[in-house]
Amino acid sequence: MKIRDKILVVEDEQSISGSISAILSSAGYDSLVARSGEEAITMVTSHCPDLVLLDLGLPDKDGMEVLKSIRQWSSLPVVIVSARSHEREKVEALDSGADDYITKPFGSSELLARIRTALRHTRTTLGNSQIAQSGKFTVGDLTIDYDKHQVLMHGENTKLTVNEYKIVALLGKYAGKVLTYDFIIRELWGPKAKNDNQILRVNMANIRRKIEPTPGHPQYIFTEVGVGYRMREDEEN
Ligand code: CA
Repeated sequence: MKIRDKILVVEDEQSISGSISAILSSAGYDSLVARSGEEAITMVTSHCPDLVLLDLGLPDKDGMEVLKSIRQWSSLPVVIVSARSHEREKVEALDSGADDYITKPFGSSELLARIRTALRHTRTTLGNSQIAQSGKFTVGDLTIDYDKHQVLMHGENTKLTVNEYKIVALLGKYAGKVLTYDFIIRELWGPKAKNDNQILRVNMANIRRKIEPTPGHPQYIFTEVGVGYRMREDEEN
């Protein structure tokens, strides 16, 4: 028998937690609900969930406090549930150790995709099992060859510059997950790098010209407005 993943839904609004629980159970997950921050922290220790879905607007304390408290002793995946237009809040949560976020209102397929990605990234050492096994990451017609340091479209080298390659390689390693601008800059150019999103934007425009088939409609690297970038993930993996 397959052991079902257990997900703790931290949400004070009963109608929302009810519909999330229904989606989770139909997808084969067990779910638990906590209605406050205190209850959430208690339930993380007593029930050892595989993932926490955390609403930031809770009655007793800020969800961000709950996240920081969990992160003091646990690296279990936490996906933040946030309102649209709260970009700064999303960035703060990601920089405080959240694995990803989902914006209200969301559909069930989007919710399940975020959960699958967050669970998978905690279970593989490299973050992406595809790369760990083959040295390559493939989605659609795009392949990142980590051994040759090349990005291929339809098998043809797209001739990215070193910096462009580094950006795509990093996004591929965390495919399906949003990476904040700050995270990308720090990972690629070190902790002392100038926090300049403009350099990243210029590089991204050039990358898109080389890899995206339709200008203005990215199919591989998506912009999360005010937050960062997310590489598409192969659904079959
Ligand atoms: Ca709420």
